[in-house]
Amino acid sequence: MQFRDLKTQYTVLKDEMDKAILDVVASSAFVMGPKIKEMETAFADYVGAKHCVACNSGTDALLLALKVWDVKAGDAVFVPSFTFFASAEVIAMQGATPVFVDVDKDTFNMDVVDLERKIEQTLKAGQLTPRVVIAVDLFGLPADFKAIRKVAEKYHLYVMEDGAQGFGGRIGKQKACTFGDISTTSFFPAKPVGCYGDGGAVFTDDDEWAALLESYHIHGKGSDRYDNVRIGMNSRMDSIQAAVLLVKLKAFAQYELEDVNKVACRYTEKLKGVVKTPVVPEGYYSSWAQYTLQVKDKEVRTGLQNALKALDIPTAIYYPIPMHKQTAFNYLNPSDNRCPVSEALADTVISLPIHPYLSEADQDMICKAVCEFLNK
Ligand SMILES: *Cc1c(COP(=O)(O)O)cnc(C)c1O
Repeated sequence: MQFRDLKTQYTVLKDEMDKAILDVVASSAFVMGPKIKEMETAFADYVGAKHCVACNSGTDALLLALKVWDVKAGDAVFVPSFTFFASAEVIAMQGATPVFVDVDKDTFNMDVVDLERKIEQTLKAGQLTPRVVIAVDLFGLPADFKAIRKVAEKYHLYVMEDGAQGFGGRIGKQKACTFGDISTTSFFPAKPVGCYGDGGAVFTDDDEWAALLESYHIHGKGSDRYDNVRIGMNSRMDSIQAAVLLVKLKAFAQYELEDVNKVACRYTEKLKGVVKTPVVPEGYYSSWAQYTLQVKDKEVRTGLQNALKALDIPTAIYYPIPMHKQTAFNYLNPSDNRCPVSEALADTVISLPIHPYLSEADQDMICKAVCEFLNK
């Protein structure tokens, strides 16, 4: 069994996908060109943002946004401790300081009470200037942006949405990747909408920031690419990836997002009461980048993982080490970065296979195996 079955997806989309890829090859417009513009327009329209700038990865997307805001040494950027490394890595890459915020034990997303506590702590220490909050839509569920924005406004901070896993999620009618002043996503193959390699995008409604993003992602270009007005990056999206994404977005919007939600609903129905299933608050809609259970402790988790493995059911631990415990961040003062919920989650979470093409028979087999092991 596959954890995320990209092969079946390709089989379903094969005719359209092969043609889309070969059309780019025949056009020989491999980098930039009309496919990129088409992709940017389609993705901006889908989420409801004014601008989409395609780039080379979700990590680059985050980095580009920090460059637009000139985040630098001496700045504090608030980021959840329970996330993928890239959300925090980019802060350090800019020379700024990540301040780790704990998460909510039910939604896995940024705990707004702890956010305010960490901002106050940072102000009191007087070493750093609070600039940005990066809120992550972990496992596909949008963060609590209403509450986050309130705190951000109080302290005059920018809000960035790391929607690498959140693409397709919603709060009410508003779609993920529109909740930040700048929002980002990733098209890494295993994300809700993935390409056939690395890819990412930045979304914003702000014309000036969009123009800066356009410049930063092509070597800080000015009037043309050999007129360089700032230090930028090479972070263009390949045209083949744009073509792949146009085919994928159509399937995602037509049925994949709904289908993956059906899988999650069925999982929850069958596992409720046996194990702690993921919580989707009222009015929220998840894109189910992951379906993540919480078990009692690390020992139970290892047991469950082995029992499922014996039945050829793959599982994954997202994430085994919170950011404030990562070796790469040892240089930060750890006493300032207490995140007990993140630490507990790192020991107790386990993610089940989930994707739109998971058969009901496989879903049932997985749920039966989980129930049998935990009811023992
Ligand atoms: C995957 C991911 C990223 C990075 O995306 P890449 O395309 O792999 O660079 C950033 N943040 C989160 C939360 C992610 O899951």
